[in-house]
Amino acid sequence: MARRKLVAGNWKMNGDRAALAELDAIAAAARAAPGVDVAVAVPATLILSAAERQPELDIGAQDVHAADKGAHTGDISAPLVRDAGGHFTIVGHSERRADHGETSADVRAKAIAAHRGGLRVILCVGETGEERDAGEAEAVVSRQITESLPDGADGGWLTLAYEPVWAIGTGRTPTPDDIAAIHATARATLRGLIGDGADGVRILYGGSVTGDNAAAIFAVPDVDGALVGGASLTAAKFVPIIEAAARAG
Ligand code: PEP
Repeated sequence: MARRKLVAGNWKMNGDRAALAELDAIAAAARAAPGVDVAVAVPATLILSAAERQPELDIGAQDVHAADKGAHTGDISAPLVRDAGGHFTIVGHSERRADHGETSADVRAKAIAAHRGGLRVILCVGETGEERDAGEAEAVVSRQITESLPDGADGGWLTLAYEPVWAIGTGRTPTPDDIAAIHATARATLRGLIGDGADGVRILYGGSVTGDNAAAIFAVPDVDGALVGGASLTAAKFVPIIEAAARAG
């Protein structure tokens, strides 16, 4: 099944108001690549101004709480992201799992809340270096998907991102064969959970994607785009990845 490529940026805890100017060139690149979906998960402080500055760009959050509102100091809910003009959220990023002890059950609850609040979801999974060295990468990814995928998930609102923890921000990437193997496992796991609907779910690769390696990664079977951290912070680095996705078709 043909799935549109998605190139999503994750600014993490970076980006002040001056950084909003980067979105102008990113939006221009998105317009020049009509076959590619382009999204940017900005810090919560920038969602409103980013969405107002570039209404055509898909702006989102990096996390949401599992509740819609209430006494959760410092957290942000899906309805609040939606109200600020955000259209999607990342959930289950390995930095959230590691820094905040989020379990797959937590991630599942957040994905459900995001969908309930009208947001699309990019749900991240991925093994640590130790798990890969122990030969457990496929089992870990399959288990994370099984434990964190909401019932009734479909490609209309849910995207999976395979992000090996050891590849995030390190400049190291798995081989194309290793990426292909995990994406095939992820697809098979999805199929076991949601049947034919699995064919509509995009599976992104994330971890040290750059303009230099994007074309090779997009050529891997079952790679439907990329979740990009460091190289999404400037248009100069992010736009070549969007262009590589457009060439990959
Ligand atoms: C990420 O954190 O989602 C990510 C992929 O980061 P980087 O591209 O910097 O490795």
